Amino acid sequence: MYRRLQWTVISLAGALAHADVNADFQQKFGDTFLEAYWRMNPDAAIVAGYYKVAGELVVPDARSRDEQHQFLKEWLSKLHAVKPESLDAASRSDWVLLDNQLRMELWQLDEQRAWQWSPDTYNVANSFALLLNTEYAPLDQRLRTVLERLAHVPAYYAAAKAAIHNPTREHTRLAIEQNRGALEVFGADLDKQIASSGLNSRERALLTQRIAAARQAIQDYADWLESLDAQLAKNGQARSFRLGRELYQQKFAFANPGGISAEELFHNAQQERLRVLSKMEALADELWPKVVAHAPKPADRFEKIGQVIGKLSNDHVTPDRYVAYVRDLLPQLEGWVTDHHLIALDPTKPLVVRDTPAYERGVSIASIESPGPYDPGARTYLNVLPLDTLPLDQAESFLREYNNWMSPVFIIHEAMPGHYVQLIYANRSPSRIKAVFGNSSTIEGWAVYSERMMLESGYGGNAPERWLMYWKWYLRSVTNTVLDYSVHALRLSEQEAFKLLTQEAFQSEKEATGKWRRVQLSSVQLTSYYAGFSQIYDYRERVRRQQGAHFDLKLFHERFLSYGSAPVPVIVELMSGTCHCNRE
Ligand code: ZN
Ligand code: ZN
Repeated sequence: MYRRLQWTVISLAGALAHADVNADFQQKFGDTFLEAYWRMNPDAAIVAGYYKVAGELVVPDARSRDEQHQFLKEWLSKLHAVKPESLDAASRSDWVLLDNQLRMELWQLDEQRAWQWSPDTYNVANSFALLLNTEYAPLDQRLRTVLERLAHVPAYYAAAKAAIHNPTREHTRLAIEQNRGALEVFGADLDKQIASSGLNSRERALLTQRIAAARQAIQDYADWLESLDAQLAKNGQARSFRLGRELYQQKFAFANPGGISAEELFHNAQQERLRVLSKMEALADELWPKVVAHAPKPADRFEKIGQVIGKLSNDHVTPDRYVAYVRDLLPQLEGWVTDHHLIALDPTKPLVVRDTPAYERGVSIASIESPGPYDPGARTYLNVLPLDTLPLDQAESFLREYNNWMSPVFIIHEAMPGHYVQLIYANRSPSRIKAVFGNSSTIEGWAVYSERMMLESGYGGNAPERWLMYWKWYLRSVTNTVLDYSVHALRLSEQEAFKLLTQEAFQSEKEATGKWRRVQLSSVQLTSYYAGFSQIYDYRERVRRQQGAHFDLKLFHERFLSYGSAPVPVIVELMSGTCHCNRE
């Protein structure tokens, strides 16, 4: 009895010491580090829903880059003063994430150097738009924050001009377009907000004056870029938009820590393309008599599949009905998820379907707008573009793409149980570090995974039409990976890229044009869909095989999402009860 008591005391003391280490870690990095991080990055803070430093605007000059550098080095050394082996699994994976994040930001400053060659890095509009359109505080308080922030805009653009050196023409033109668009944020709507506010006349005068100066600085920056672009066009020596193999591989590794290499994923995607095309061909053969009927069947596989898809695309609603169609779809998807025990939903966080607000209307037909980790109580919206606001031919081309066979798959991805459900679980995750430094491959991968999982559960009644459309949609993710790597690391030409997208992935001319533009302006991001999906799907299949009859799909999904948006390999280690730190 005595002995046992002593054992109890000893193990209790051990547990307490252990808890202290983890609590210390969370306090130092989950709180103190993040507070300091937001002071260094007020724009990112606003996006995360942290408004304490919203009045600050960092002037992107050499001094601030030095400070950033200093800051990252300092926190890296503080992080490495903690031995990851001493932490529990949850904190250890935070340690891994933070280590990756800090090293990535140093790499961006020192190696990637987009601050030099990517003039679209500089644009003040987004943070101002968020402050003006998010009701996190009364209007007067938000306008005073805007007033404070505006003071730095002219210095901001002066520093931008000084930083830019031999940019790409593609990013230069994007910066011109986006900064001209930014002028809208400082236009008539803002004047109306000021008129309806309780600001005194002195504040109003100062605000009016600073808005004029900001508009002037933005206009001047766009004009300056315009003449720089003309010069680049003339001397023909602009930097290439292609990242090059070495930088690409490094960037990919930061985006997918602990996982697959860029080259490996590229090879997997190429093989996956061929598998998907065989499935599509079999479905096209099956559907041919029903859908195309008497027309002669082409020998060319791409043409045959394309014709069946073309016929199925006729099946869509009218432009004025689309928002209502999506609104009706949601409860149907929710019901399916619950009835088929796929994952627990949170009835206290209803998703609101609305017309995309005018200032956010762009290229996307629907998207989730969700609160950041500091404001998890705020509403989540599913913005849907009101198609009757578009010219008829544009609306028709959207609707042929988002037809009745395709749209449910798309809404599964965006909302139920895709992005919306994942974000609710992520915001609930106890780790603020994981919520803040969310991994794109995990986030996009989950959405792509949820499409497959819903169809596998029988949603859509296993209709061959639905599956064919699903494979077309999924082929897009796979092709994105092939395209991104081929363009940035293997110098794929524009002509070859168009052939890959239109002839071999059934994309419209318009979609392919948009994709070509996107791959010129971004890198690695396009791989996140397939990178995340393939890792999640492979892991699920592994667990299913191991657990056999005991495998519980609902429990698997809930546990997987409970770790927040950590990289898939980190989640896998946590779910298996080990951390990859053990191997180091
Ligand atoms: Zn997505
Ligand atoms: Zn490690």
